[in-house]
Amino acid sequence: MRRPLIAGNWKMNMTDGETKKFLDKLKSLKNSDNVEVCIISPFTSLKTLTEFLNETEISTGAQNLYYEDNGAFTGEISPIMLKDLGVDYVIIGHSERRTIFKEDDELLNKKIIAALNHNLKPILCCGENLEQRENNIQEKIVENQIRSDLKGISEEELYSKLVIAYEPIWAIGTGKTASSDDAQSMCKFIRNLLTKLYCEELADSVRIQYGGSVKPENVAEIMSKDDIDGALVGGASLDAESFSKLINYGK
Ligand code: PEP
Repeated sequence: MRRPLIAGNWKMNMTDGETKKFLDKLKSLKNSDNVEVCIISPFTSLKTLTEFLNETEISTGAQNLYYEDNGAFTGEISPIMLKDLGVDYVIIGHSERRTIFKEDDELLNKKIIAALNHNLKPILCCGENLEQRENNIQEKIVENQIRSDLKGISEEELYSKLVIAYEPIWAIGTGKTASSDDAQSMCKFIRNLLTKLYCEELADSVRIQYGGSVKPENVAEIMSKDDIDGALVGGASLDAESFSKLINYGK
């Protein structure tokens, strides 16, 4: 049985002071036991986040890393630094990193390997843009991303660590959600691909999230699908009350 993972990706939002206020509010709100919950903040809030959530069941994540351990890489953050803070997850290959910061699959592959080497769980994002969806090549795009991003990584390294987030770019921050059937169909396609690349046992164990305008109003429908094991949530995770509704979707 896969335990769903609902993760809030704050992107470049929330100062450290705002993080403390958010966490204070979250404390008084009821938390769900049925899903694993994760908050993914900017680097500048990670210390506050990990210290505060240390005693709770809530996991923490970073939005990026660099693949080297240390050295002359001005402006970058290494997996060792994240691990030292007690961070659990790291997003790799978010579409904003792929498009705005031109991160390619070769770089993302190195980042995933670095995360795994340091016992950080990668949340690998994949997904097509609107033009690709209109040309009906979304499966090809996602397959190429996953094949390249996981290149050379063995099955053993991925067990209990890899999470995949299917995030159609046209649905991110736009208010347009993929239909739950389309999201399910792509998540199933990804699971079948993992069976082809590795084996059924691994494919059955990997959590595959959907991301793209998930809100309290549509989360239950999305989560009801067989191959969708959680959500990666941007905008709706920034407000403690809305985030709490999301993680308690089943109640
Ligand atoms: C995201 O940041 O990964 C995301 C899905 O954003 P939003 O929920 O705002 O569409």
